[in-house]
Amino acid sequence: MSSGPHVIAIDGPAASGKSSTAQWVARRLGHYHVDSGSLYRAATAVQLERDTDPETWTEGEVLAGTRRVSFVPSEGAFVPLIDGEPADEKLRGSEVTRNVSRVAKMPAVRNWVNEQVRLAGRAQSVVVDGRDIGTVVFPDASLKVFLVADPWERARRRLIQRLDRHPSDQEIAEETDLIVQRDAKDSTQTVQATDAVLIDTTYLTQEDQVERIVALANAVTHRPGGTSVVDGDSDLT
Ligand code: C5P
Repeated sequence: MSSGPHVIAIDGPAASGKSSTAQWVARRLGHYHVDSGSLYRAATAVQLERDTDPETWTEGEVLAGTRRVSFVPSEGAFVPLIDGEPADEKLRGSEVTRNVSRVAKMPAVRNWVNEQVRLAGRAQSVVVDGRDIGTVVFPDASLKVFLVADPWERARRRLIQRLDRHPSDQEIAEETDLIVQRDAKDSTQTVQATDAVLIDTTYLTQEDQVERIVALANAVTHRPGGTSVVDGDSDLT
């Protein structure tokens, strides 16, 4: 393994638990967390301020808007700032979530995000979550993980996080619809690397997911000369 910063890539579909898992794994390993989706969200939030009709958005305009976004290290994570200010609440809003896949389809925006994420990974050891981190952004990552979970379970977890109470079956059904729709919109950019370890988290607690990934990360980083190879026959799925 090179002595440069380590990169751990965690990819997977919407609400598969990537971000919270990546955040936790990063803390355990003393790495920085990089949420690549937050940059697509920041580009979308800036564009929504300029123009509320997504049908008229152009790639050039969205790209120009990214000049207002910086990506800076803060308390163990790289976070996007808009005009120098934190914007987390805005980035998680439903208007951004509804329109972010459209922005994420724009190649120039993808290049901009990938550049920001690679710069972060060059400066620090990072745990990066996204859709194409193991395939496009860091094909040489030390470890690649692809998280999946049943859509109903993803919807249930997302609602508990958002509402801070147990959701009804009706609420879960509605959220499942939204998640399945976003899966369809994101399908082209959500790709499992052939050398990624697949983890189905439907029946795992978040703690178990984190433990598995930390154990895998320790195994690859201690392997002399090892890069992205994790035993494909392991029973980690
Ligand atoms: O992970 P999160 O839901 O915050 O990502 C928001 C959106 O950004 C996704 O729905 C997807 O369209 C896009 N995305 C992407 N590639 C990534 C990360 C996110 O296309 N690496």
